[in-house]
Amino acid sequence: MSGADNVVWLGTPPFPEAARAALADTRLRANLRRATGTIRDRRLAVTAELDDWEDLRDTAAAVKRRTLRHLDRHLLRLEETVTAAGGTVHWAADAAEANAIVTRLVQATGESEIVKVKSMTTQEIGLNEALAEAGIRAYETDLAELIVQLDGDRPSHILVPAIHRGRSEIREIFRRQMGKWGRPAPEGLTDDPRDLAEAARLHLREKFLRAKVAVSGANFAAADTGTVVVVESEGNGRMCLTLPETLITVMGIEKVLPSFADLDVFLRLLPRSSTGERMNPYTSLWTGVTEGDGPQDFHLVLLDNGRTATLADEVGRQALSCIRCSACLNVCPVYERTGGHAYGSVYPGPIGAVLTPQLVGVENAASLPFASTLCGACYDACPVKIDIPEVLVHLRAKAVEAKRRDRLLPTPEAFAMKAAGVVLSSPRRLAAVQRLAALGARLVARDGWIGVLPGPFARWSGTRDTPAPARESLRAWWRRTREAGRTTTEGKGR
Ligand code: SF4
Repeated sequence: MSGADNVVWLGTPPFPEAARAALADTRLRANLRRATGTIRDRRLAVTAELDDWEDLRDTAAAVKRRTLRHLDRHLLRLEETVTAAGGTVHWAADAAEANAIVTRLVQATGESEIVKVKSMTTQEIGLNEALAEAGIRAYETDLAELIVQLDGDRPSHILVPAIHRGRSEIREIFRRQMGKWGRPAPEGLTDDPRDLAEAARLHLREKFLRAKVAVSGANFAAADTGTVVVVESEGNGRMCLTLPETLITVMGIEKVLPSFADLDVFLRLLPRSSTGERMNPYTSLWTGVTEGDGPQDFHLVLLDNGRTATLADEVGRQALSCIRCSACLNVCPVYERTGGHAYGSVYPGPIGAVLTPQLVGVENAASLPFASTLCGACYDACPVKIDIPEVLVHLRAKAVEAKRRDRLLPTPEAFAMKAAGVVLSSPRRLAAVQRLAALGARLVARDGWIGVLPGPFARWSGTRDTPAPARESLRAWWRRTREAGRTTTEGKGR
């Protein structure tokens, strides 16, 4: 299984097609508008409280970029410190290798089920499916992940994977599916958030108490101490990280930070940017194993899966600075209208549009760099100052280049650009084409407007209101009125 098989959901249509279908779903749009609007307002309120917010962003961006420049060194240091603290480090080049490592580790415990704390990295590699093939059942314990898993759905947001579901839909999912995965939903379950949370709590509690093995992701890892960090809001993660005997953490290699002290700035930026909270409710930190306290067997799987290739791209590598806060999703006008599924990837929204094509190769996600208006709201919101519009434009060029390579004949865009180059390089040719175009446009115009044009021009003209061109171009008018006048004046002066 290649990394692309899971980062990109195979079989899903390209973004424009999927977006069109999503736009027709009024309930989805209402759910998204309400949810993203609430988080957006909260984020703006709490970030405005800090006088040094911009300094924090600058510092975080500098730390991330410096770390990426020496990533190899920091990862080797992390391996040293985790090993010294009693943990075991595994290196996985791709999804298949990471899945094989985790499966082997779980099998070695003799267990046939695990609990998981929310981890995008394990979704990226399709870990649940790989474990299921080996007869091991994975239970998601993050509330939103639980909803997605019970419904056989896919996540649609980095932080709130079930953001596309309303309360009544969640109640129905719980009623229908909980019994198939363990303790059923209580009788008479309402769609009150407290009732839904209690139903999830009861359903998950027995799993936490039974589990011998847990799999987690990681938000950060400090290379100088070997400390791994998970931040979450519900406390379910804390149970996963402390109750089982064996803990396996799957972490993308870009999550490493040089030192424990660096956490200071990131733990202030992350909660304000993600959930709009001043402090994160549950921040779990652990360093290897501690006798008599928490899991006694700790494994850290360091995953590449396209990250080294991303690092090699001087413009695109900034996407690896992402701390998965989801602020860019919540401010994106495109995401707010289409939702996450339209991106056809584990990583949706603006960050997904730049990260996914780089992880899987731009030819495997060619429509994503175009899933943006380039308005720049994502760049303004990003706590680590990733210039997403810059990377989008860079990837658009790569997507066009990849398309050009695969074709015997030039693409219509390439042909149009070549023709434009020939015309624009000669004033005579430009004037001749302007005259011809004006004549042609006037022939097809109705009541002063050009409607949908035939053939290849239909896609361009079908989405625009274009006025018919003036009878005389500016150049022709200039020549007629000014140049003729000047010649007359000059002639008189002689
Ligand atoms: S790109 Fe920036 S704003 Fe978007 S999820 Fe990553 S860190 Fe957050």
